[in-house]
Amino acid sequence: MTGSPIAGIPTDGEIAVLGLARSGRAVAALLARGRHAVYASDASSSESIAAAAAGLSGAGISAEAGRHDLERIGRAALVVVSPGIPPTAPPLAAAREMGVQVVSEVEVALRSLNESRVIAVTGTNGKSTTTAMIGSALLELGARAEVAGNIGRPLSEVALLESQPEWIALELSSFQLHDTPSLRPAVGVLTNLSPDHLDRYASANEYYADKARLFRNAAAGSLWVSNADDPDSRRMTDGVPGAHATFSMDARADAWLDAGAGALMLGDDVLMRRGDLALMGKHNVGNALAAALAVIVADGAFTGCEARERIRAALRNFKPLSHRLELLGEFDGVQWVNDSKATNVGATLVALQAMERPTILLLGGRHKGEPYAPLASEIRRTVTRVIAYGEAARLVENELSDVVNVTTLADSFPDVVARAREFARAGDAVLLSPACSSYDMFSSYEERGDRFVQLVTARAAHE
Ligand code: ADP
Repeated sequence: MTGSPIAGIPTDGEIAVLGLARSGRAVAALLARGRHAVYASDASSSESIAAAAAGLSGAGISAEAGRHDLERIGRAALVVVSPGIPPTAPPLAAAREMGVQVVSEVEVALRSLNESRVIAVTGTNGKSTTTAMIGSALLELGARAEVAGNIGRPLSEVALLESQPEWIALELSSFQLHDTPSLRPAVGVLTNLSPDHLDRYASANEYYADKARLFRNAAAGSLWVSNADDPDSRRMTDGVPGAHATFSMDARADAWLDAGAGALMLGDDVLMRRGDLALMGKHNVGNALAAALAVIVADGAFTGCEARERIRAALRNFKPLSHRLELLGEFDGVQWVNDSKATNVGATLVALQAMERPTILLLGGRHKGEPYAPLASEIRRTVTRVIAYGEAARLVENELSDVVNVTTLADSFPDVVARAREFARAGDAVLLSPACSSYDMFSSYEERGDRFVQLVTARAAHE
């Protein structure tokens, strides 16, 4: 299938696509469909990357696995970067040195999806959950909607569909925002801000500066949804042109939690009962409020009573995404909770706030630069023991052993789960919420979470 060139993407010269994982493959195919000349490359020569290169070559696209031709990249008319490639990677340095413009895969896809309206979601935590909730609400409202971006489905895959959707719920990481200059969402949502990715950014300010790029093209007609409880979010949105709607868990706002009445509110009206939301933790109420608000402000057609009923139905039926405070079950009176997606201290903090039982906390992995001390007060409230493991084990022990009993283990994940089982008593919970990345022992947080689920449920099946 061929189409016309993508507006704003050069047609003279080659487009260099960096990275051949899912988003690189999709954007290479999208560019080729628009008859742009493509050179796609990846430093890895793993089986899946080699297969991707072979697949693209078979489709007439110039692709290679195992190396980047830096000279060729330096001559490109444009470089398209996949989100996993750090800014210091040699091909990006080569592009910069030769003055070649670098854009994200999302930028190319957005230019191609010129008929779709985008609800863009960013923030430190809660992006995927909020994005998925927005997608569910839009579908329940009868809209032709797709969910894409950092949530795991590249936007270029949506752009490759036969027809453009009316709406896209688009999750954006700070890295994607960095290189997406033409982003103009119908609604932009900022869930919250706390320091993260200090392994890839020189400072929290630099990370926040990328998040602020959500607002780069803000104009009087823009619509924004943000978190009234978070001082850093308030500072960032202050003075940004456009109409601002806010959500709050502490006080009245456009969407808010009436804790006394146990209800999620839209202004004076009850949207739904807290008990009707099947997700653990107050933060997930925040995510639901943000999602409802984003959909309601997006279009006049989504504001009436009937629309509200549909949004309520979508939220009521919403199940937690895997690896996010996912209750695996209760075995011998012990609740096991998989929160492998908590890869920063902020996410682990909200997980602890959601715990209502004495908790054994599994903390560790690859340290990302933030201190663990901010967990101390919630640990005192709810945690009976921390099991520290992986590369970060000693650091965790040093910072938390004054606060709680810490058992320090090495990097055998089965041992970590086995020790948790020994410590747990009926009435307790065991929470995997590591506050670290998984890369010391696993290829991703998904693999870590899947292994946890396997270890927990395999043993339970034998009993
Ligand atoms: P993201 O896509 O931003 O990483 P997710 O929805 O995947 O967000 O949730 C990731 C982790 O962050 C979860 O494990 C949860 O513990 C935590 N989290 C989710 N929503 C929030 C929130 N609104 N505020 C703080 N932490 C949150």
